[in-house]
Amino acid sequence: MSVEEIPPFKGVYVYRTEGQKLLVTENLDRGFSVYGERLFRVMGTEFREWVPFRSKLAAAILCGLKEWGISRGKTVLYLGAASGTTLSHVSDIIGREGFAYAVEFAPRVLSQLIERVVRRRSNVVAVFADARMPERYAGLVDLVDFIYCDIAQPDQSRILVENAELFLKRGGEVMIAIKARSIDSVEEPEKVYRREIRTMEDSGLKVLETVNLAPYEEDHIMVRARYE
Ligand code: SAM
Repeated sequence: MSVEEIPPFKGVYVYRTEGQKLLVTENLDRGFSVYGERLFRVMGTEFREWVPFRSKLAAAILCGLKEWGISRGKTVLYLGAASGTTLSHVSDIIGREGFAYAVEFAPRVLSQLIERVVRRRSNVVAVFADARMPERYAGLVDLVDFIYCDIAQPDQSRILVENAELFLKRGGEVMIAIKARSIDSVEEPEKVYRREIRTMEDSGLKVLETVNLAPYEEDHIMVRARYE
């Protein structure tokens, strides 16, 4: 068995054992599994399996993403945290020196998020709000290094841009998971992606890379961008 960091993704590791090769992060909340993921102990350090079929950020790494702006000590604004599956891994990666604001507007998943992640970790706070109205949480959220948007809404690129204009530091990066079918169920996915990317570029964001998330998610891409 061995654990090896994946060079551009500090805090993300490959765990190899008996023919298995899994993506893992170091567990900040020892002994606790957030969504049923397996825990592994190697030389006194505990790691959590990061399941790419449950998390588009993990899928993006396995699908060839080149790099990203998340690492130890970074501040993150996470739009669409749901019950905290991916957020918990982001929390592991940024570590106790980092901080994440988790925006979610659905009360049921928000209460799971609070139980499973926010109450148990000191580097995450939940923001019960609609990401379409960032000015409502402007008093709670500081400038951040990185914004991740996974809200599966037809106007999600515009929502990301409005949040980036308010909260993203100069030189900070954004990533967005674009699900073609959430935006337009009949149009060709490629056309939907191009339109969403144009919305980001029109706001001054420079797209750095796009990755198709198949086979983990069909008709989804991940886009990484930055204000230049
Ligand atoms: N990112 C999550 C993960 O990987 O663990 C999954 C997110 S799920 C695809 C989308 C989430 O975004 C849902 O929980 C939904 O309630 C939330 N959402 C959708 N529109 C939103 C909005 N305008 N403001 C805040 N949350 C929103």
